[in-house]
Amino acid sequence: MAGLRSIQDLPTVTDHLYRQDAYLADCQARVLSVSSDGIILDRTIFYPLGGGQPGDTGRLETDHGTVTISDTRHGHGDTILHIPDSGSVREGEEIRASIDWDRRYAHMRMHTCLHLLGAVVDRGVTGGNISASRSRLDFDMSETVDKAEITERLNRLIEANHPVESFWIAEEELDARPELIKTLSVRPPRGVGEIRLLQIPGVDLQPCGGTHVRQTGEIGPVRIGKVEKKGRHNRRVSVEFAVTAEDVALVAEESVPEV
Ligand SMILES: [Zn+2]
Repeated sequence: MAGLRSIQDLPTVTDHLYRQDAYLADCQARVLSVSSDGIILDRTIFYPLGGGQPGDTGRLETDHGTVTISDTRHGHGDTILHIPDSGSVREGEEIRASIDWDRRYAHMRMHTCLHLLGAVVDRGVTGGNISASRSRLDFDMSETVDKAEITERLNRLIEANHPVESFWIAEEELDARPELIKTLSVRPPRGVGEIRLLQIPGVDLQPCGGTHVRQTGEIGPVRIGKVEKKGRHNRRVSVEFAVTAEDVALVAEESVPEV
């Protein structure tokens, strides 16, 4: 039927460039499909909402104009949906994709900082959320934490400028190395084939598909904000950037309400 397309005809794969290099702020790409769900490209630097990290925002530039992207989500298969705010693109068109780098870089710093926070508090993590100005982790614990002590230990790990590395490992290989599983702070997902591990040597090792900075020093100074009791066995610990002029500008821009 002309004009109609079954789900089988939709593209199923997008090359996720941000997984190999989180520092790419733009790339050339081709439009594979356009639907009411969003725009699918053959390759992208846009990170889709997931793992507590927000989807990227940015622009797609064409010969005939600019499309503003207000959110990024996982689509069917291994595709990524770029959600347009305004403007239009056509299937088959070559475009230039660019993300709002300041916002994403703040997410990368915050995300990496949460790995450090998890290592410092060293309790089971039951949830988390990242934004450009403040982030939080929910810990499975009944006692409270010493804000000053956690702040100091976090900043010490940041200042030590530890390298942050990621690598892929096959599920079978992980199964064959129980000593590696034992060091993981989070149980890996099953049935996905290859697993991406995030490693801060001597500090943290866990499965993670998010975007991170290369060295912990890039996070910059932080402080523990609110510590809330969210149930008998749940402490919600918030972390925020210790304010610089740049961070003030980002906080002012941010309109995402705290959930
Ligand atoms: Zn991560």
